[in-house]
Amino acid sequence: MADDIPSPLPRTTAAVEDYLERIRELIQKKGYARVVDIAAELKISQASVTTMVQRLDAEGLVKYEKYRGMVLTGAGEEVARRIAHRHELLTSFLRQLGLDETVISRDVEGMEHHVSPETFRAIESLSNYLEKNPEVVAKIRPSGTTA
Ligand code: ZN
Repeated sequence: MADDIPSPLPRTTAAVEDYLERIRELIQKKGYARVVDIAAELKISQASVTTMVQRLDAEGLVKYEKYRGMVLTGAGEEVARRIAHRHELLTSFLRQLGLDETVISRDVEGMEHHVSPETFRAIESLSNYLEKNPEVVAKIRPSGTTA
């Protein structure tokens, strides 16, 4: 059903989405996000983070105040929320398939930025089906892995 497919995200790159995802996590965890925290999370310099955050501010995705840190705007929150939702669903889907956690976290970080809404929907319904049919999961898992 066309109505069920979420509208595409605003034009954002994987890097922008990663920032918004981290900023949202920091705000949820600590109540605020500062350049220094993001630099530590992403393991890059504070100067690079500042440049990116100023760009996100110019694009209307965050509101950045030099000494107080930043908050997500409505649009920024929307992008971050969708990425977080994809992250959670793709992670639990790959877990259902019995994959290793290291592989899962690496692959999800890439997939969440590139999967189309249509493919995401298909994965979501397959994942729901597997959830309700554990006997199917047992058949498709690589041998040697358990639930
Ligand atoms: Zn992610």
